[in-house]
Amino acid sequence: MYIGEKRWKVLRCKLSDRRGDCHLENKQIRISDKLEGKELVEILVHEIVHARVWDLDEEAVEDIGIAVSNALANWYLIKGE
Ligand SMILES: [Zn+2]
Repeated sequence: MYIGEKRWKVLRCKLSDRRGDCHLENKQIRISDKLEGKELVEILVHEIVHARVWDLDEEAVEDIGIAVSNALANWYLIKGE
């Protein structure tokens, strides 16, 4: 997928100690294969924000992931929990 002008690889992986991560060096986002629904959207948005705005502080990145997944759930675009 493209994030900004750069092509990134997004993978579903077995991750034991985290829900997702973002590697700038090889332009790869990994998302835990255990996630689904609202939590999956939250973490996917979170990692995309890291990829696009790498120096944004973690608290702001977390807020965006949560706000977007809440908005989508509130508008019934995704299932809430
Ligand atoms: Zn983060």
